[in-house]
Amino acid sequence: MIEIDRITKVYDGAKAVDAVSMTVETGTITVIVGTSGSGKTTLLRMINRLEEPTSGEVRINGESTLSVKPHILRRRIGYVIQGHGLFPHHTVARNIGAVPRLLNWPREKIEARVDELLTLFSMDPAQFRDRYPAELSGGQQQRVGVARALASRPDLLLMDEPFGALDPIIRARAQDDLRHIQQRLGSTILLVTHDMEEAIRLGDRVAVMDGGRLVQHATPAELIARPASAFVADMVGNVERPLRLLSLIPVSEAVEDGPAEGEPLPAGSSLRDALSACLWTGRTAVPIHRDGTSAGRVTLDAIRARAGLHE
Ligand code: ADP
Ligand code: MG
Repeated sequence: MIEIDRITKVYDGAKAVDAVSMTVETGTITVIVGTSGSGKTTLLRMINRLEEPTSGEVRINGESTLSVKPHILRRRIGYVIQGHGLFPHHTVARNIGAVPRLLNWPREKIEARVDELLTLFSMDPAQFRDRYPAELSGGQQQRVGVARALASRPDLLLMDEPFGALDPIIRARAQDDLRHIQQRLGSTILLVTHDMEEAIRLGDRVAVMDGGRLVQHATPAELIARPASAFVADMVGNVERPLRLLSLIPVSEAVEDGPAEGEPLPAGSSLRDALSACLWTGRTAVPIHRDGTSAGRVTLDAIRARAGLHE
């Protein structure tokens, strides 16, 4: 459990973060959402002590972070920022193994962990272990960045606008993957975004910040049903759903004969799922399966045509 207790940061007499308190349960995702300048990054950086709080404290499983040396603390807290932050001259394996190496894990244990994480992120270890970041797609780089932050099984993963650089459609897939991996590993995640749609999609709980203050901390359903203020109502109301149309059309409506490689999608998927799968894995078509047998394919062109989407 992470307890944030009246944490405050004053810069030049102004409160960037103003007495924010919240509890994050182990094994859950909390999304902190707010407009630019609302104090989200400052709040996150006070948790791993990249910024020292002016007052207040954070406790991780009952222990104040102030009683741990910052560099030790940061090995126990994963941190992912926008862009992947990978070391360009290190291989994927070396990047993912960075913190376990600092912790002096034995070599075999690091290698096993790297392979386990690559597999979990749908990247074949034999194919990707020895590549350099520049040899990966944007989505793959982002996955390696998250895998690296998870490598040492941190108590907590902090993510500051991790998907901000990704195309909106790939972002939806990245969010789904993060959810899936978080459930598999039981990780505790605190993620910052300015995108209310992302917050609602990902958060077990959503913390809305405005002007340094926490204005609502609730489940997505509560937030939508009972926004605590006009500001929150506005943010929720502004959620854009440009892909709503695609998520309402089943793949069966666009399925055609022809070859397609890679992991198939079940026939019950939506065109939005198919679009995400194509863009995420760099395919121009995905195979569709019904009851375990091939039922044709859906192409990127067909999806785009159905949605009226253009390049
Ligand atoms: P967000 O991540 O929500 O966009 P930040 O936490 O980055 O917001 O910033 C919150 C407020 O604190 C802003 O007004 C910003 O200008 C101010 N601020 C952030 N970092 C510093 C700093 N190092 N020195 C002075 N002011 C800062
Ligand atoms: Mg920020």
